[in-house]
Amino acid sequence: MTKKELRAQMIEQLKNQSRTVKTQRDQQLVSNFIELETYKKARTLATYLAFPFEFDTSLLIEQAQKDGKRIVVPKTYGKGKMVFVSYNAADLEMNAFGLKEPRSNQTVAKSDIDLIHVPGLAFNNMGYRLGFGGGYYDRYLADFAGSTVSTAYPFQMLDFEPDYFDIPVKEVLQYGEL
Ligand code: ADP
Ligand code: MG
Repeated sequence: MTKKELRAQMIEQLKNQSRTVKTQRDQQLVSNFIELETYKKARTLATYLAFPFEFDTSLLIEQAQKDGKRIVVPKTYGKGKMVFVSYNAADLEMNAFGLKEPRSNQTVAKSDIDLIHVPGLAFNNMGYRLGFGGGYYDRYLADFAGSTVSTAYPFQMLDFEPDYFDIPVKEVLQYGEL
């Protein structure tokens, strides 16, 4: 299967996940996430604003704000460029992908981010990921020195060959783990 076919199949499966099961898994994933040493140590946490069929990052954002973390989320530009900007629920706009992103251009330096929660459609057991096809995270993570973690539902763990430019995440947190 090509990456493109796999993406379509994974989006289909994500959309078919029952809401009840998804909510349980999301809550469990957040509980597991906040137990990570990399989370506990992080002062600045990068996460993302997700599609409804993805892991519900709003649960993580809410918890991380309670824990006193600075939250940063992606802002994209053409040509595969992405930066992270401080999350402010009152200053978001819709981007070309149909996702909300910060209106502000105030970029937080890569070296100031301690932990990046990386989105993905599928992951292999080496942490290689299938993204949405823009290659944004492969570019961003190529010279990122901090920690990376993704959250995955059981059916998102797959065996596939990465491309030479793919950058793996250091940890994939799976539902039911820990
Ligand atoms: P995704 O990671 O979102 O699943 P791909 O891995 O298929 O998407 O990457 C999408 C495109 O991004 C590829 O065609 C690739 O050429 C480009 N790309 C990935 N990493 C880099 C990089 N470090 N520099 C320039 N282009 C890159
Ligand atoms: Mg890739």
